[in-house]
Amino acid sequence: MLGNPIMSEPVYDVVIAGAGIVGAACAYACSREGLKVAVLERDFIGGGATAAGMGHVVVMDDSEAQFALTRYSQRLWQELASELPADCEYVRTGTLWVAADEEELIEVRRKHQFYSQRKVPSEILDSRSLDAAEPQLRTGLAGALFVKEDAVVYPPCVARYLLERSRDLGARVLLGKEVIRLDDEGAAFEDGTVMKGAVMVNAAGARAASLHPDLPIVPRKGHLLITERYPAFVHHQLIELGYLKSAHKSTADSVAFNVQPRKTGQLLIGSSRQYGMDSPEVDRSILSRMLARAGQYIPSLPGLSALRVWTGLRAATPDNLPLIGRCPGYRHVFAAAGHEGLGITTSLATARLLIDQLMSRAPAISSEPYSVQRNIAVHG
Ligand SMILES: Cc1cc2nc3c(=O)[nH]c(=O)nc-3n(C[C@H](O)[C@H](O)[C@H](O)COP(=O)(O)OP(=O)(O)OC[C@H]3O[C@@H](n4cnc5c(N)ncnc54)[C@H](O)[C@@H]3O)c2cc1C
Repeated sequence: MLGNPIMSEPVYDVVIAGAGIVGAACAYACSREGLKVAVLERDFIGGGATAAGMGHVVVMDDSEAQFALTRYSQRLWQELASELPADCEYVRTGTLWVAADEEELIEVRRKHQFYSQRKVPSEILDSRSLDAAEPQLRTGLAGALFVKEDAVVYPPCVARYLLERSRDLGARVLLGKEVIRLDDEGAAFEDGTVMKGAVMVNAAGARAASLHPDLPIVPRKGHLLITERYPAFVHHQLIELGYLKSAHKSTADSVAFNVQPRKTGQLLIGSSRQYGMDSPEVDRSILSRMLARAGQYIPSLPGLSALRVWTGLRAATPDNLPLIGRCPGYRHVFAAAGHEGLGITTSLATARLLIDQLMSRAPAISSEPYSVQRNIAVHG
């Protein structure tokens, strides 16, 4: 679509609405191709879900399409890691998917087989090995799957870094610029001005549908808590296998045990999901449920000091896959949104799939499952 960069009118090759991690990754991918990029952000860099998220870079296997995107992106994170500054806090912690009982161990074995067949390094831990790996977990848990290449990052700093690199390559990043319309002409602002581009990208996260109401994206609220510093309290990202059930529910509120060690020694504790909610207030009742759940896995957790609690909005789609590609009804408008709870992980692959479409190149993985025009099945 953009065989050669367009250096005269329209002014920009690519105009991106949204400076979260997805918009930032798209800006960097486009700038590296020599395209002239503008990023428009209503608030500040990474101020949406990107600052609210956990930063777990995780391979997932709900579907082949989800696996392909998360694994592809994880590899891109591994490449990027060597150039990231220290404040991006990339650490390969691995994930322990914790099985509470024999029934969940069956899922551990299934996941292990799935990953082994696809060359993702993982290992089954029995109850005793799990105790040794994470002494703070309650005794008597059945075991876990250790997925070795999963990592954690600090997402707002990565977004800032990707935009700094884009700026070095000539991109413009305009903050405090709310786009009120994004169409084939360009990005329009409240004052009636329009910034023109050859291609416009909607990377507005949970607000993407306010620019394009046909996008099937709704907010899904989540809470997180961060503690004071407790270095080496836990060593891996710890998630209960029940998390998968929670992430799939599309109606009721749900909580799951999900704890992440930060490089600072702090712990991030999640997670909750509330459908169709877009208010930022902390909901004390779901927060209590979330912490009670975490306390069932780590009995000493209630004795730790909390520093802060916040909420964020995931951009949920009916089939839990993002929307990457041309928006129906437009020639030059693309979406890069709808990443729900995996947008940190999949941001880099999203940007690659987008730039490959713009440059009419074959992508490394099929982009069909994420097409905006796909027939979207509701996840069970
Ligand atoms: C509690 C929680 C935990 C999470 N944990 C993880 C995790 O561990 N791993 C993982 O991979 N993902 C996680 N996620 C998901 C991840 O945070 C998101 O998928 C990701 O940040 C989405 O990035 P984005 O750039 O699409 O959206 P955002 O970060 O929301 O960015 C969109 C940007 O667009 C701007 N914008 C909106 N409308 C306009 C407009 N009209 N004009 C201009 N700008 C506009 C917003 O201000 C915002 O800055 C979590 C999310 C939450 C809420």
